Amino acid sequence: MDRKKEFKDMPTDDFKKYGYKLIDWASEYLNNIEKYKVLPDIKPGEIKARLPEHPNYAGEDFNKIINDFDKIIIPGITHWNHPGFMAYFNSTSSVPGILAELLIATLNVNGMLWRTSPSASELEEVTTKWLREMLGLPEYMWGIIYDTASVSSLHAIACAREKLGLDIREKGLAGNNLPKLRLYCSEHAHSSIEKGALTLGIGREGVKKIGSDAEFRMIPELLRAEIRKDKRDGVMPFCVVATVGTTSTTSIDPIRVIGEICKEENLWLHVDSAHAGAAAIVPEMRYIFDGIEYADSIVINPHKWMFVPVDCSILYVKEPEILKKAFSLDPEYLKTKVDSEVINYNDYGVQLGRRFRSLKLWFVVKYFGAEGLAGIIKRNIETAKKFKQLVQGDPEFELMAPAPFSTICFRYKPAEYIGDLNELNSKLMDEINKTGKIFLSHTKLNGNFVIRLVVSGIRTEEKHVLEAWEIIKSVIHTNTTIGNIIK
Ligand code: PLP
Repeated sequence: MDRKKEFKDMPTDDFKKYGYKLIDWASEYLNNIEKYKVLPDIKPGEIKARLPEHPNYAGEDFNKIINDFDKIIIPGITHWNHPGFMAYFNSTSSVPGILAELLIATLNVNGMLWRTSPSASELEEVTTKWLREMLGLPEYMWGIIYDTASVSSLHAIACAREKLGLDIREKGLAGNNLPKLRLYCSEHAHSSIEKGALTLGIGREGVKKIGSDAEFRMIPELLRAEIRKDKRDGVMPFCVVATVGTTSTTSIDPIRVIGEICKEENLWLHVDSAHAGAAAIVPEMRYIFDGIEYADSIVINPHKWMFVPVDCSILYVKEPEILKKAFSLDPEYLKTKVDSEVINYNDYGVQLGRRFRSLKLWFVVKYFGAEGLAGIIKRNIETAKKFKQLVQGDPEFELMAPAPFSTICFRYKPAEYIGDLNELNSKLMDEINKTGKIFLSHTKLNGNFVIRLVVSGIRTEEKHVLEAWEIIKSVIHTNTTIGNIIK
């Protein structure tokens, strides 16, 4: 009888057959990734139009599924693992991470309680400690893995609110005749901070963006002045978010001075180092965390610059009991006999069910070691420096921000051009991206459109940034759209 009509899972022999086929596929893909266009040539709705409107009633042959994947899905993929993906903060997956994902799905444990998978809980304890050590963070920092930095920061802000002792957990924001709460971050902080504040009922008005200096770092004196002003006006400051590696330029807020202000004013300090924190694995880069002893919480994403597949974000908190106090509930069905001896991670956050993310972190750390990870990150930084030198060495280009890590912000500024530089650079970026060979993204700094080139992929090497430079030059010299603008 047809196995599917018995309503059973795929037989293990077929699993092996197709599993080998897909591993072959994945290996070929990674080997030949440069043959793909980084950005797919696809219009909105095109992929949907190729998919059936209704689900199939009968199960399909697995070969057909693989075939559809190749024919329908792959053409709409943006290739994050491509060495020419130099947009945003690239997150690439390493092979050990990919293989760990296979095992994670195979085991399919839900680490909501220690009981529901002791290895998942205990490996999370161990790997977060390992990473803490690799980054040189204080020993008292306790780590928990969430999906993204947005969610990690949301939990950090919830802790800051809980620490106020205003009983918001019990009474809600409306229940206590509360003053307005205020969180401070730089104008360059990631939008996830504002989203966290929105979610927690702090509101957009509850977030004050502090101005930054010429190098895009928060100005501590402005922060102090705003805190004092709010206190005078009856607003209650409760949290400051400093960023190590801002999204636009990777600037580093002065944590030490900001930390001293937080200490004086008794405010929670959260450090968002989602992307750049991983650089501290490189011993010479440890300076980025100068003053980190003032932090109450820190986020760092192994899925951004540590080659762990998306998603994996770690929140470190100084006082995990506050996180627990903010989120823990104990419905009867989740009680176990060992609760007092173990960590039940669901107590420390919004979600109950939890993926076994520590397994992929463990595989990646074990395979590369601290030395290997530092080596790749260091290579990325040195490679980006090469690109920076090319920009600086060409009078028609302008470096638009310091580059403490591997993100280069630049713009094209041809001599004697009197038109709109923002329009020119925006068009230039579009035309570069249309080549499909590299993918760059942009930001705005002081009103100027700035192109960003980020080197944080495990497969991106010096030859790729040299090629990127050639592509940029070639678009300038041969592309008619750009030619028509600058003529
Ligand atoms: N924080 C910073 C500094 C970022 O650059 C980003 C994204 O690039 C985030 C937070 C949000 O990361 P996630 O996608 O993990 O929520």
